[in-house]
Amino acid sequence: MAWFTRQKPGVEGGGEGEKKVRTEGLWLKCESCGQIIWKKALDENQQVCPRCEYHFKLDARSRLASLFDDGAYQEQDAALLSTDPLNFVDSKKYSERLAAMRRATSLDDALVSASGKLAGRAVNICAMELKFIGGSMGSVVGEKITRAIERSISQRNPLIIVSASGGARMQEGAVSLMQLAKISAALMRLDEKRIPYISVLTDPTTGGVTASFAMLGDLNIAEPGALIGFAGPRVIEQTIRQKLPEGFQRSEFLLEHGFLDAVVKRFELKRYLADALHFFCD
Ligand SMILES: [Zn+2]
Repeated sequence: MAWFTRQKPGVEGGGEGEKKVRTEGLWLKCESCGQIIWKKALDENQQVCPRCEYHFKLDARSRLASLFDDGAYQEQDAALLSTDPLNFVDSKKYSERLAAMRRATSLDDALVSASGKLAGRAVNICAMELKFIGGSMGSVVGEKITRAIERSISQRNPLIIVSASGGARMQEGAVSLMQLAKISAALMRLDEKRIPYISVLTDPTTGGVTASFAMLGDLNIAEPGALIGFAGPRVIEQTIRQKLPEGFQRSEFLLEHGFLDAVVKRFELKRYLADALHFFCD
């Protein structure tokens, strides 16, 4: 699925060319059942296939809008930017990569932190954005989450983090790995204050994110069919020299083996969170 669609500029009407331009991006094929779906129908269905309930990826802002009452929330710490502490260069300069991502996604980094109400209860919700360098966790993601935790402590409001991430951001090296410890320590302080934290794992949640806050919730719940793991299956197979079982690293498999508390469909997620917070808080 394309990250975003945009009308092609400068295409004049007439003949086959026009037909092609007009239909481009309007339809897509379900990755699971192969059904051709009208994109607008998918948008109205929270990016869930109307035929087989395959959960397509949902961007951070749509996620927040789907969870907060009336889709209304106040964004927090929006102005934080990575300083590129290592002056990192791979196929291109990290600073240029960041600038390109900011233009493409209209986000400053791979996470949107927000405050608002969920079923009438004040909560803080962080949602990761996979389109921003694979939802990778660098200094900005780590700092925003830590501040959200500290906000939850000072307000005594529950915290929800919706993960979608390839793991730590390699362009920030050890700085990104340090976020694992920083966030985990902050979550311990939250726990000591007995304020609930619910982790929602979506497709995919892997690497350092799984190895830290995504698995540290009072409840760890996942969307159906999400890829959740630390290392990829190929690395594991090479290491243990065994074939991995069918469905390995998918939500349902993890639930069956005790790594998750529940697998919750997207339509039921808000209701589930509201019920869980009622149970924890009231
Ligand atoms: Zn489908």
